[in-house]
Amino acid sequence: MRGRIKSIINLIIVIALIAIGWSYYSTYNFSDYTKAEYNRGYTKFSRDKEVTYNQTSSYKIENIDYNDAMFYKTITVQPDMVYKVTCKVKTQNVEVKEPNKDAGAHISINNTVEKSDNVVGTTDDWQELEFYFNSQNRTEVELGFRLGGYDSNCKGTAWFTDFTLESGIPNQDKNWKFLCLLIDNLDVTVEKEGREIAYDITMTEQNKSDIIQAIHQFSDSMQTLSEGKMTATCDIFEVTEPITSLSYDAENGYYVAPANMENILKQYDLLEKEYDHIFTIIQTGTNEQGDLIPVNNWIGLGGMEYRGKGFSNIRVPSKENNYFYRYIAGLNTFPQEVLVHEFLHTLERNAKLYGYEIPALHDYAKYGYQEDKQEGQKVWYMDYMNCQIKTNQGNIGLPAEIFTKKSVHVSDFQYTVHMDDLQEPDNILEELNNLWDKIMQMFSGSKQMINTVKEVGT
Ligand SMILES: [Zn+2]
Repeated sequence: MRGRIKSIINLIIVIALIAIGWSYYSTYNFSDYTKAEYNRGYTKFSRDKEVTYNQTSSYKIENIDYNDAMFYKTITVQPDMVYKVTCKVKTQNVEVKEPNKDAGAHISINNTVEKSDNVVGTTDDWQELEFYFNSQNRTEVELGFRLGGYDSNCKGTAWFTDFTLESGIPNQDKNWKFLCLLIDNLDVTVEKEGREIAYDITMTEQNKSDIIQAIHQFSDSMQTLSEGKMTATCDIFEVTEPITSLSYDAENGYYVAPANMENILKQYDLLEKEYDHIFTIIQTGTNEQGDLIPVNNWIGLGGMEYRGKGFSNIRVPSKENNYFYRYIAGLNTFPQEVLVHEFLHTLERNAKLYGYEIPALHDYAKYGYQEDKQEGQKVWYMDYMNCQIKTNQGNIGLPAEIFTKKSVHVSDFQYTVHMDDLQEPDNILEELNNLWDKIMQMFSGSKQMINTVKEVGT
C-alpha cells in the first residue's frame, strides 16, 4: 500500500515537472529564431498564448527601455531573386526615441537598412506588415522581426505572428520609374550658430519651371546617355503640404531623409505605382536673404534608399537668375546633370551591393576626365554608364546588367512560390524535432546586435 502511494506521488511529481518544463518551454521557446539586442538586458523575449491572431502563440518583444531588438532566422535564398515576407503585428505603447526616425515594429534583414514600414503606438487590431526584398548576390539572409531599427531605438511591446515567405519573378525590363516631388514649402526649425531658428521657405515659380524642364531633359536623355541600356519615366508632383523637419549630419549639414516625409511619401502609392527612384526637390533659402538653412555646399545628395528604392535630394538655387537648371546654349547645355549624378549614385550603390567592382562616381579626375564649362561631367557619366572608362587593365564602369536590377515591384508576385521557411511547426513531432537545439537556444540569451548606418553622400 505504502509503496503504491509512493509511486503515485512520484508519478505526480514527474507529471508536475513535465508540466512546468513544458510551460516554461512554450513560453520561452523561440523555435529556430536567434534573439538579438543592441543594449543587452533591456528586452524580454517570450511567447504569448493570450495575445494571438490564430491558434499559435505569438512572439513577443518587450523593450523595457529604449532598445533595438529582434529575432531572426537564416533563410537560404537564390541570388538575384525577389521575395515577399508578411506577418501580423500588434503593438502596445511603442515609442520611438527620437522624432522623424525610421523605427518601430517591422520586418527587416539583419545588418542592413532593408526593412518594411513600421507600426508604432498602440494598435487595437492586428496589422499586416509586408516586406519586399531582392536577394542581390546573397545566398542567405538573416530575416528578422524587430522592435527598434537601424535609425533609432524603441520602447514598448510588439507581438508578431503568422509569418509567410514567398518568392516571385523579378521584373527585368529597362524602364525606370522616377517619382519627382517638388516640395513647395519647407517649414522647419534648424540650429544655426548655436541658436534654433525657424524658417518658412517657399520654392519660387522660376525654380519650379526650371527644375521641371530639367527633369524632362533628364527623362529624355537617359536613353541616349546609357546608349539604350535604360529609359526613364518621370512622374512630377508639386507637394503643397510642407516638410516640417530635416535630418542633419556633420558632413552634409541639413537634408531631407525619407523619415522626414514619410506621411507625404505614403500618399504617392509607391508600391502600386512601382517607382524605382525618388527625387525630393527642395529650396533652402530665399532670393532676398540667400541661403538660410545650413547645408554643406551640396546641390544633390544621394546614395540613400527607401524601401529598396533609390532616394535623393536635389536643391534648387536660393537666388533668382541662376541658370543652374536652365538650358542656355553656349552656357549650360546639360542642366539635368545633378539628377543624372544623383541617380548614378543609386546605380553605383546597387552595383556594389550586387558585388561588382566598379570605379567610384567621384573619381573622374583619377581617370583623366575634366569638368566642361557647358556640359559639366557629361562625358564621364556616359563612359561610366557604358563601361567605357579606359584603364591599363581594360575598360571599366557600370556593368550593363545593373540597368535591369531595379527595386522590387508588387507585380513581381503575380506568380509566386510559397516557401515554408517561416512556417510554425504544426504538430508535436515537428515541435519536438531539434528539441535540444531549441532548449539550448532558449538558455543562450540574446546576441549583440550591430548598428547599421545609412549612407548619405553628395
Ligand atoms: Zn556625388
